[in-house]
Amino acid sequence: MGVSVGLVGLPNVGKSTLFNALSRGGAEAANFPFCTIEPNVGIVPVPDDRLHLLAALAKSERVVPTTVEFVDIAGLVEGASQGEGLGNQFLAHIREVHAVCNVVRCFEDPDVSHVAGSIDPIRDVEVVATELALKDLETLEKRVERAQRAAKAGDRDLKRQADLLGGLEVHLSAGDPARTFPGFHEDPGLMRELSLLTAKPVLFAANVAESDLPDGNAMSDAVREYAAGHRAEVVVVSAQVEAELVELEPSERAEFLTSLGLERSGLERLIDAAYRLLGLLTFFTAGPKETRAWTVPAGATAPRAAREVHSDMERGFIRAEVISFEDYREHGSEQAAKEGGKLRVEGKAYVVRDGDVIHVRFNV
Ligand code: GDP
Repeated sequence: MGVSVGLVGLPNVGKSTLFNALSRGGAEAANFPFCTIEPNVGIVPVPDDRLHLLAALAKSERVVPTTVEFVDIAGLVEGASQGEGLGNQFLAHIREVHAVCNVVRCFEDPDVSHVAGSIDPIRDVEVVATELALKDLETLEKRVERAQRAAKAGDRDLKRQADLLGGLEVHLSAGDPARTFPGFHEDPGLMRELSLLTAKPVLFAANVAESDLPDGNAMSDAVREYAAGHRAEVVVVSAQVEAELVELEPSERAEFLTSLGLERSGLERLIDAAYRLLGLLTFFTAGPKETRAWTVPAGATAPRAAREVHSDMERGFIRAEVISFEDYREHGSEQAAKEGGKLRVEGKAYVVRDGDVIHVRFNV
């Protein structure tokens, strides 16, 4: 499944710096051809140590990571919902992504101007949130009117829908995002149909100076506090450090990270957070030709996982032969794991777990 994350934020907060580092860095780290679909869209391989270990054990010719698509979405400024900046262009981009990563400026630098003339991450976060909420309100107003008209005829279900939408309108008008609306789960279908911008999961990338790594500063702490109250995640990164990291050889990179007190790059931490936020997990297929990582939503059944590999596999699904990553590693090969009684035969109802190494048997 194509997972996409849109980078938004005010101008000059470091979006493009981060985007370029993410795309280039990921490409190098996984030795995977980075492809740019459009200048602002990059496919980034998901770093995963398990994949390379499995590939070595399975003596695979090829290693194929799973990927995340990052989209650099420019043009969000105060008044954007009314056509300021690049106007509504950014909206179409945001509608298409699964999660929004709001890059927030948490660094001081007199050489880099700020659109509002001063550094204030919470104000910036609120400007972005307000623009998105205003756009959602516009979408919703028309819908509420229609629902209320339809409900007049006395249909109980339409009345319920109109009430729910009315409640959502009140929630958004108070400046709260759709994702925290208590009635959201009462009618997920209706909510999905609205495709509201503020319904998307949000991740904040607090962009701090190198000297403020690894824990951040007072500004990123403020973002953390804000995020806790708005059902969002925070990752402290330094776009500049990420840009420097991609210039280094892998061994130098590890050394540089350690010197900054970091175990993993911002890219890895961002992807991790996005996976958690979106409720995704990784499973593997492993063999002499290729070892590959795949992404599915948590809760996916074996046939749903098979669909990722090929639609024929889902259609003709017979059974899945599953070895957990830990068992595979411990035994060293599929055959050894099988002899050790660690190969499970699972049916259509099996719910895939993170790290499963799966072999699908299917009819063509
Ligand atoms: P965008 O408009 O949000 O895409 O911002 P850019 O990525 O183009 O960055 C705007 C300016 O801020 C550039 O001159 C960057 O070099 C600079 N910049 C980005 N991140 C950092 C950072 O972490 N620290 C400092 N000091 N400057 C940064």
